[in-house]
Amino acid sequence: MSRLSTLLFSGLVFALGAHAEATTTTATTTFDCCKLLKLAFGSHVVFPDSTQYNSSVSSYFFLEQRNLDPSCIVQPTTADEVSKVVKTFAYCPYTELAIRSGGHSPNIGFSNTNNGITLDLRGLNSIVLASDSKTVSVGTGNQWGDVYNKLDPLGKTVVGARVFDVGIGGFLSGGGISFFSPRDGFGCDNVQNFQVVLASGAIVNANAKENPLLFKALKGGQNNFGIITRFDLVIKPTARFWGGAVVTPESADPAQLDAFTKFKQAPYNPLLEIEQTFVYYGSQQSYFVSNNLFYLTASSNISSLDPFTSITPQLSSTLRISDVADFASEVEAGQPMNQFTVYATTTFPITSTNLKLIYALWKTTTGQLAAAIPEAISAMTYQSIPPPPPAGAPKNLFPFTDPSQTHPLVLLLISVYSPYEKDYTLLQQKSKQFITAVETLLNKPGNGGVSPYKYLNYAATWQDPISGYGVATVKEMKSTAAKYDPNGFFQKVVRGGYKLK
Ligand SMILES: Cc1cc2nc3c(=O)[nH]c(=O)nc-3n(C[C@H](O)[C@H](O)[C@H](O)COP(=O)(O)OP(=O)(O)OC[C@H]3O[C@@H](n4cnc5c(N)ncnc54)[C@H](O)[C@@H]3O)c2cc1C
Repeated sequence: MSRLSTLLFSGLVFALGAHAEATTTTATTTFDCCKLLKLAFGSHVVFPDSTQYNSSVSSYFFLEQRNLDPSCIVQPTTADEVSKVVKTFAYCPYTELAIRSGGHSPNIGFSNTNNGITLDLRGLNSIVLASDSKTVSVGTGNQWGDVYNKLDPLGKTVVGARVFDVGIGGFLSGGGISFFSPRDGFGCDNVQNFQVVLASGAIVNANAKENPLLFKALKGGQNNFGIITRFDLVIKPTARFWGGAVVTPESADPAQLDAFTKFKQAPYNPLLEIEQTFVYYGSQQSYFVSNNLFYLTASSNISSLDPFTSITPQLSSTLRISDVADFASEVEAGQPMNQFTVYATTTFPITSTNLKLIYALWKTTTGQLAAAIPEAISAMTYQSIPPPPPAGAPKNLFPFTDPSQTHPLVLLLISVYSPYEKDYTLLQQKSKQFITAVETLLNKPGNGGVSPYKYLNYAATWQDPISGYGVATVKEMKSTAAKYDPNGFFQKVVRGGYKLK
């Protein structure tokens, strides 16, 4: 028998559930590993140039991830199939695996791979409401909009992304900031149970009673502990509330900065979710501010929004009472599409002056980008860090125990875009220079300092959000990983994402 037919035969034995000898089944190349998987999963393994392969690769949100070429893509539809894929990897010691849900990470290689194998989880797309309507079980392959479309008509919702087509898996394993986060915390704090495929291929539940350390580690631990196949999410009653985007011209920037500063310094209001974004569009050579304003009630009194809605002149306003799917569609429509992109972030306590000082730095960075890339888009968003879980509730990995620690914090996201690959290195350089300059400025006396916490879902590849969880938490994460992944599958084989160092 030739080497390939030995491999295929042994793979078939494996696929049928027998215990094949590792010596006869080891795939020495990624292509061999793809062949093994093909035997086990048939049409769920797709190769370059096929329609299904091209459709999977082209569905990443950002161009830098679409540019990667996995040797094959595996598209399971059940947790059992995911488990078999992981077991097959025992026979593929030289192959890298990328885990992908919604494909919205801008970080190259986090959910796709060049020459490795990508596990495209979008086929795990069930949404099942529990009979008591207290939870909904959501497959990791859904987009948040699918969940909202199912729950909105029932007058119910969940703590998910503010943008319709963001994926479930990356959002919740990194934290997850929702319209409801000022009231309900991170999305991950509203997961009652994770169904997870471990490195051994075992399918387990992680919740407050079963595997509680794993339960905690999955809330901010990204792909370091397992492949999450299903999330059981707590249902919330709020379904209709105030929200929309209010846009003002550059001339209103000082008033906008003032309004956000006062909002952060005022007593905390858990019903107010505000994202203030300063935007530059190179194609129009124009600056403006887009405030996404949400007030989590359908009451007729919306005076809480006055500090923002009273700023004039307004270029447009879509404020209205509506449902989650509608708001998430609107925020989606405002996203730059088909771009090479870098996201980077920092977190800091508010002072009376620091937002204005940072804004000046952003203007400088944006001016430099605009000079080099005529079509550049540059956006800087100020928003809030969600409060920690209440005392006695299950914990996440983040370094906050009391709302008094999170309420004064501002979460800054800079996102820079170009339609051209040649500009990608410059986008990286400029965003890094900007964050360095911001943190240097904040560390000067009187400017408030910098929090060690960096939001994982907004962090750049050159940032290290896991170290921001604190030394003791990182130690605990390593010990959890040693228990659930003793051979380091999620460190060595799954290379994309923030790893435990
Ligand atoms: C347009 C846009 C809007 C956004 N809006 C918000 C927002 O409102 N709030 C917010 O908090 N963030 C937001 N984000 C950031 C978003 O949360 C992250 O990009 C998140 O990673 C996206 O999840 P995904 O499943 O689409 O990502 P993917 O790119 O598929 O995955 C991201 C990472 O998570 C890992 N991963 C994915 N699924 C699993 C799984 N099932 N098990 C284990 N690991 C897994 C991947 O390996 C990868 O490292 C937004 C991003 C974009 C581009």
